[in-house]
Amino acid sequence: METAPRLALLISTCLWAALTAGAAEQRPLYMDASQPREARVENLLKRLTIEEKVALLHGDSKFTTAAIPRLSIPRRWMSDGPHGVREDIGPDTWNPAGRTDDFATCMPGLVALAATWNPETATTYGEVVGSEALHRGKHIMLAPGMNIQRTPLCGRNFEYMGEDPYLTSRMAVGYIRGVQSQKVAACAKHFAANNQELDRGSINVEVDERALREIYLPAFKAAVQEGGVWAVMGAYNKFRGQHCCENDYLLNKVLKGEWGFQGLVVSDWGGAHDTREAALNGLDLEMGTEKPYAQYYLSQPFLEGIRKGEYPASVLDDKVRRNLRVMFATGVFDGRPAGAFNTAEHQAKARAVAEEACVLLKNASDAVPLDLSKLKSLAVIGRNATTLQTHGGDSSGIKAFYEITPLEGLLRRAGNQLNITYAAGYGERDSEKLLEQAVTAARQADAVVIIGGLDHGRFHDTEGTDRKDLQLPYAQDELVRRVLEVNPRTVVVLLGGSPMELGPWLAQIPAVLLAWYPGMEGGNAIARVLFGDVNPSGKLPFTFPRRLADSPAHALNAYPGKDGTVRYEEGLLVGYRWFDTKKVEPLFPFGYGLSYTKFEYSNLKLVKAGTTNGAVARVEFEVKNIGTRPGAEVAQVYIHQNQPGLPRPFKELKGFRKVSLKPGQSRQISVSLDASAFAFYDPTKRGWVTEKGIYTIFVGSSSQEIRLQGELEQAAASFERDGT
Ligand code: BGC
Repeated sequence: METAPRLALLISTCLWAALTAGAAEQRPLYMDASQPREARVENLLKRLTIEEKVALLHGDSKFTTAAIPRLSIPRRWMSDGPHGVREDIGPDTWNPAGRTDDFATCMPGLVALAATWNPETATTYGEVVGSEALHRGKHIMLAPGMNIQRTPLCGRNFEYMGEDPYLTSRMAVGYIRGVQSQKVAACAKHFAANNQELDRGSINVEVDERALREIYLPAFKAAVQEGGVWAVMGAYNKFRGQHCCENDYLLNKVLKGEWGFQGLVVSDWGGAHDTREAALNGLDLEMGTEKPYAQYYLSQPFLEGIRKGEYPASVLDDKVRRNLRVMFATGVFDGRPAGAFNTAEHQAKARAVAEEACVLLKNASDAVPLDLSKLKSLAVIGRNATTLQTHGGDSSGIKAFYEITPLEGLLRRAGNQLNITYAAGYGERDSEKLLEQAVTAARQADAVVIIGGLDHGRFHDTEGTDRKDLQLPYAQDELVRRVLEVNPRTVVVLLGGSPMELGPWLAQIPAVLLAWYPGMEGGNAIARVLFGDVNPSGKLPFTFPRRLADSPAHALNAYPGKDGTVRYEEGLLVGYRWFDTKKVEPLFPFGYGLSYTKFEYSNLKLVKAGTTNGAVARVEFEVKNIGTRPGAEVAQVYIHQNQPGLPRPFKELKGFRKVSLKPGQSRQISVSLDASAFAFYDPTKRGWVTEKGIYTIFVGSSSQEIRLQGELEQAAASFERDGT
């Protein structure tokens, strides 16, 4: 009796085994997550038809590429960036898609992140953005923006990370690692020399090779070689006569050739201009062209060219491989994790970055923090106290889940202890009336906080246009002057992402705090800094000039260019490199920022740790908190070559360390310098060289407040032949 069921069981077991073995055989290798990535890429590549391959190289809506269901290739989604995940756009227009599930955490702008001088914070920031992107089903975040601030007028300075290649490199690498830890590709943009918005689509940039290598490329190189970034976005402008998205030198020779970049190059939206150049000069993914999708340069015209034999199959396959690599890296065939969206944790991180980014520019007689026990009333003045900022700036605008304005933050923090009044103070209409109301409010209050600065209005901090000058808009200088006349206990809080002229009133004002565009938690962060719950520790990632004409590109009349070309006449002398070398006094130097406590530096030791090609030195010193509050200091290490064979900037940032210290606490700091820290790019040798000689090492709390210095001898070394 038992034999029949046993037999049935045996038969069905054998059948099941045979069936599953067959399924395993049929499961293509590229779907097997345990296989090496390159094997999966090759396996999928050979299954694609030419038409399918080409379909992967261009958009099929504003921010997607086509799915290929036959091979389980899903639609690929891209999104701006950089301060959070942008609301969904399109599909075929720039209008919002009108969804209700695309509100996001809005972090402070990237220039604020740079002001933290904290690469770990950059990673945390990237993790938040990456995990929200993952949750929203995005594969590529179009971020970070990492162009160097060449002119204080550039409309997108707020989206970038300041004027120094080393600081930008460290912060970009941190950000990229954070985003990519979430199985979302970061995209380093805009490659390269995209340093003004004026005429951005057509301007031709001429910059000498040395400045290119020492100023404009290092952060991108670090993004590729240290950050392992999976995507790079070409810039709108031309570089040496060729559009950056189709630039043989930048894309083929430097990025892919010298640096070994294996990921994809995406065009800026509408940055491709020609099929042949796009095909042959290194573009792998075309987006945003103002044509029907089938007519994109890397669509039908490219396909026809391939069929006619105008382009070798290897060109097509190389582009496809690069796109596939990014798909595998972002887990599209393996089931992606869920990510997280609008969590309390993300919001807390947004606030923490905003707090850490605040730069205290002036604090005469300890005017801040404000002492609640000594105040009964506070007048908050200024349109920026109530203006919502997070949606502004164009492509970097975020549909924030919520936004705490500065006024709201101050009310939440102190509204039940202080009588807080508000007056807009400035605006485009009724300006005289607004001014008088503000003066009255200021006169009646114990203290005043003016919340002013810039905004994302046209010709302020925004994409597509540059600022016209450095002045504060809306007659704010007059407002500050008039308020000060009636109430000297006035603190100015500036929002903005680029330098501003503060000369007209700076000497009279007791305290100035730069809060950047602080994101959705900005109001809370500002209030916590002003009332002393948080000790500011941000440092400027760029120089504040006294006047525009002091800035290198403007001093040399080398902006915005003539007859379609802008020549970077200042060469290497960008930002503090110019101010230091030419001995021009800035309003606030690069690396500057005050604290509510004080730090003492001592015991400098310069330790040689090797003499070969990888010559390494260690800069060791002690930092002590000698004040009464806990605080954090950013100790900065600059090098100066005493007798360089080629002219060099007076000093160059080569290391920094941020330390948090309790009152009385001290910490031993050690900053390692590798051989590249001493090197400059020698255009005749087409490579980096370290010359034998004496180098002065400066340790400072800013680029100008040097606390310790010493000399170090280095042996000659040459390495890394770059350039062709
Ligand atoms: C910007 C890019 C952005 C793209 C997509 C362009 O105008 O320059 O930074 O990623 O649009 O929105």
